Amino acid sequence: MQYSDYQGEKISRLGFGLMRLPVIDDDQSKIDIEKVREMVHYAVDNGVNYFDTAYVYHNGFSEKAIGQIMKEDGLRDKINIATKMFTFGINEPGFDPRKMLDEQLERLQTDHIDFYLLHGLQGKMWATLRDKLNIVKYMNDLKEQGVLRHIGFSFHDEFDSFKMILDEFDGCDFAQIQYNYVDHEIQAGDKGIAYAKEKGVPLVIMEPIKGGSLIFPDYPEIDEIKAKYGLGQLSNAELALDYVFDKEGILTVLSGMGNMDMLTENVAIADRSSIGMMDEKRAKVIEEIIKLLENTEHIDCTGCRYCVDGCPQNIAIPSAFRFYNEGKKYRNPDSQKRMYNRTCANIADCVECGACSNICPQHLDIPELLKEVRAYLG
Ligand code: SF4
Ligand code: SF4
Repeated sequence: MQYSDYQGEKISRLGFGLMRLPVIDDDQSKIDIEKVREMVHYAVDNGVNYFDTAYVYHNGFSEKAIGQIMKEDGLRDKINIATKMFTFGINEPGFDPRKMLDEQLERLQTDHIDFYLLHGLQGKMWATLRDKLNIVKYMNDLKEQGVLRHIGFSFHDEFDSFKMILDEFDGCDFAQIQYNYVDHEIQAGDKGIAYAKEKGVPLVIMEPIKGGSLIFPDYPEIDEIKAKYGLGQLSNAELALDYVFDKEGILTVLSGMGNMDMLTENVAIADRSSIGMMDEKRAKVIEEIIKLLENTEHIDCTGCRYCVDGCPQNIAIPSAFRFYNEGKKYRNPDSQKRMYNRTCANIADCVECGACSNICPQHLDIPELLKEVRAYLG
């Protein structure tokens, strides 16, 4: 395993994301603990020492599962546990960060957390945490008490908000961003990597394979591109991970590994990874893949939202089109279904009044296209 030097510690360059664990009966709360135990042992035996969970992963059972395994198998001192405060409920009356942390310590069966993050920060959410909850002092006090060893945040917003948080979060030890070769210009992106480096804040990378989308199980054109550059043997997962492992200033790269095959492949890839490993051929392959993705069939919706207010059925039209386009782009409709079902549950309520099409600057036949979306994702 390759390691990052971090405040006198060695952190494995591959981190185990505990958000897509094997479950029983397709129930996210029923984690298959024996399968996870086997994977955790394989990971630890092969040098992985960073495990990332969160208050909400698997409805709380991700923290419980890793807590149980660490305790029963005596692995606590071999694992750096990272978990996150569920910040999305900050405006709820009963929101109590300390109560939540105590519950997390109990689930994890430990008296301290190695890496503690404010979960999924956006600029507005940060302002509320900073002003209403005095969160910087709260986190630093717990760090001083040894309950939290390192404090940071995970992030989903634009670069300006990322910069603001890095500038204002005194004592911030690390940050976690979404980053991969397709998403390198959105959210924190390349600019965020450069700024964090300038501030001396190491980054944890999430979604290096874009939630599995960059595995491209059904894309012979991508195999042809790789073969053209003599990289036919390179797996799509390896290409995506190499792109991220190549960067400087990265503490660890998280992969949400759901089975043993994924884990063994990722461990092998991480073992042979190094900073500066991207060569010209790999860069060319990525450039061509991006071009190919840009040219896939899609609904020409710009996301302007002009159609939204006039819809008598409150249908999330631009979101429906976005999920459809993403599914088509990666030939992976399953990757979109969870969010589609959550956001577009009422899509069948369209009464075909045409109010949306009349206002759409792209002149889209929205009622017809919504039928297509339903047939593809429903
Ligand atoms: S056609 Fe359907 S989606 Fe469009 S405004 Fe009418 S009900 Fe809403
Ligand atoms: S008005 Fe047209 S382009 Fe704008 S969000 Fe609606 S469907 Fe998309």
